[in-house]
Amino acid sequence: MSEQPLPAAPSPAVLDDDLLELVDDGPAAQAQQGAAWRVLVVDDDADVHRATELAMQGLTIEGQPLEFLHADSGASARTLISQEPDLAVALLDVVMESDDAGLQLVRFIRADPGHDALRIVLRTGQPGYAPEIETVRSLDINDYKTKSELTRTRLYTVLTAAIRSYKQICELQASRRGLQHIIEGTNQLNQYRTLARFAEGALEQLCALFDSLPQGLVLVRHRADPSGQARVVAALGQYSSMLGINLSALGQVELRERLEAALDREVTAQPRQLLLRFELANQRLLVVYAELQREPKAHEEALLRTFASTLGVGFDNVAMYGQLLDHAYNDQLLQLPNRMRFIELLEQRMRESVGLTLALVDIDDFSDINDAFGHRFGDQVLQGVAARMADQLGSRTEIARISADTFGLLGSADLVNSERIMGLFVEPFAVAGERLQLSATAGLVDLSDGTVLGSELLLDAHIALKRAKQQHRGAAQYFSTEMGVDARERFKLLKGLRASFEARRLYVVYQPQVDLDGNRVIGAEALLRWRNEDGKFVPPDQFIPLAEQSGLIISIGEFVLRTACHQVKRLRELGYSSFKVAVNISLAQFRHLQFIPTLQAAIRDAEIPGDALELEITESMAMEDVDMVLSVLAEIRSLGASVAIDDFGTGFSSLSQLGQLQVERLKIDRAFVAEAQASGAGSSIAAMVVNLGRTLGMRVLAEGIETEAQAQMLRELGCHEGQGWLYARPMPPDALESWLAERRA
Ligand code: C2E
Ligand code: MG
Ligand code: MG
Repeated sequence: MSEQPLPAAPSPAVLDDDLLELVDDGPAAQAQQGAAWRVLVVDDDADVHRATELAMQGLTIEGQPLEFLHADSGASARTLISQEPDLAVALLDVVMESDDAGLQLVRFIRADPGHDALRIVLRTGQPGYAPEIETVRSLDINDYKTKSELTRTRLYTVLTAAIRSYKQICELQASRRGLQHIIEGTNQLNQYRTLARFAEGALEQLCALFDSLPQGLVLVRHRADPSGQARVVAALGQYSSMLGINLSALGQVELRERLEAALDREVTAQPRQLLLRFELANQRLLVVYAELQREPKAHEEALLRTFASTLGVGFDNVAMYGQLLDHAYNDQLLQLPNRMRFIELLEQRMRESVGLTLALVDIDDFSDINDAFGHRFGDQVLQGVAARMADQLGSRTEIARISADTFGLLGSADLVNSERIMGLFVEPFAVAGERLQLSATAGLVDLSDGTVLGSELLLDAHIALKRAKQQHRGAAQYFSTEMGVDARERFKLLKGLRASFEARRLYVVYQPQVDLDGNRVIGAEALLRWRNEDGKFVPPDQFIPLAEQSGLIISIGEFVLRTACHQVKRLRELGYSSFKVAVNISLAQFRHLQFIPTLQAAIRDAEIPGDALELEITESMAMEDVDMVLSVLAEIRSLGASVAIDDFGTGFSSLSQLGQLQVERLKIDRAFVAEAQASGAGSSIAAMVVNLGRTLGMRVLAEGIETEAQAQMLRELGCHEGQGWLYARPMPPDALESWLAERRA
């Protein structure tokens, strides 16, 4: 083994043994033929240049040849460095035009961030010019050798070390850029909400990661259906025209087969291609295919894996988001737009066209069908109806499912009108082998007057539908403005009532009831009061029916009951020992399954005897279903409470039923008190009611007594008790207490 100092260079054909071991010509060497490591030699001695190049002739490092660039002074080296990119190593002489020209050149190089990967090896003829260790470190100098030290082998070793470290730095920088790219790319992709947009973005980013123009496609297929069609959801570059088509329509047979295979299992990519397969959470398979302009480098594999897993999460997210949207806007059973989507469609179509009609079609007695034949059958009925609508109303009509058995239709008036809609139900439906005759009720809105709020229009249609149901089921009703005003006002009122109830702004007043003979107080009737947010009193005649229709009366009624029970408890404690409180009960309460338990709890919680409470039911309620009324009355009686029939004379009582009920009291409606006075007592309805009550063994109480003359007349007719302004107006609890105290005195 001969070690020869430079500049005497050996012939390149003769290699040292140890040099042979260093020569790297592994598989990568062939793969990357062409590119060369660029080595800059700076020396004021021309021989050094020649000798260096000669010594290294024909050698490769890490599979790549060397390319030499030359400069003979610090100054000319600067010019060259500024112009030449991708320099791997600089072999620098220390002493040139000045003693430290080499070191100054190093400072110059290190000041330029464009060359921070460039490795530097200092060479000097004289050992005395070695730089300080600190300088070597801070200027990132790889090696310092005296020229005499650098035999051919040593030079090769030094260059190999420097080039390897250059290569590592370059890879690190590339990885950093790649990561940066991935992070930025991911941030951008995360803004996309649809699968298509996200897929396109992912394709772009993947290609960009490998310095390639976007070229490729993204395919999606349902996982549970291997024979099903894969659809192209993103297509870029030469594939752009494939967007939206099925994979089977792809002309390039070989590619199509590879993609089909890739959907079924993991397939390795061919050179300059990327093939990524994702199994998404929503039962979908997704394949990304990209064509690259260069092969991914070894160090980029890890980057690609990182990016792919990020993309996987992203694809899952957009797929899930899409599914949420689908559920939010589409009815899953009928695959029709739902209410939300229909409102959007309404607004959209209203802007685009004129002469539209909106209809809500409600299937009559659908819940009975469900109950009788089961939900599965019910679903099929709805599917049958939806199919017939689509069939008969054509593609220009929007069909939506608004609620369980209500369909929304939107289309031109010649398609969406009452005749057409009723016509849909003329023929029976074939459901699960049965022939089923259905009927439907419809509410329609003529949209020519141009309101644009979809939800408002839908409300109009609902109002018309409701009116139709009240008036003539199995028919259609068009919306009118009066209908809307009326319904909206009631709706506003109900909203206000609910809010007031929740804010505890409802309260109870009491109107005393007296014995007509001795004017002794027997009790008081509890009456509900509502002063709304504007401070105005709304009379119970207006809000009680609303509360009844909406079901709100159940909770409001319980509140009145409990309040009255506590009040009577207090009055009894104050010494009015036989004082009774009378509470008005609505039909909805009376029929409610929880009525008796509620009543029982109110009595128990207030710690009052049952007989401190009287319940007022109206005459029409008392004449409802006899069996139901009798059984509830029996339970009330078992709790010790009494019952009065309110507003007697206004309904149409069956006398036999009245006798059966065995209630304690009849209340003559105040209209008959006034009437008796006008038309003469003897032949009045009031006289008849008094007689009837007495005959059936009931107490009779007259309401609305305003004058002493009325009281006198009623006393003469044999009426037992009375209530009215003559005695007292309805009063809040404290006023009632002082009123009672005054009378006791
Ligand atoms: P009602 O049960 O027949 O109550 C008697 C109504 O006559 C009360 O009207 C009372 O203020 C009024 N009144 C009493 N004395 C006179 C009088 O001398 N002259 C005149 N002109 N009116 C008199 P109010 O409080 O407006 O209640 C109206 C109706 O609202 C009640 O008729 C009752 O059916 C219903 N209501 C009131 N509170 C409740 C309640 O808590 N629950 C239920 N379900 N209904 C209630
Ligand atoms: Mg009453
Ligand atoms: Mg009454």
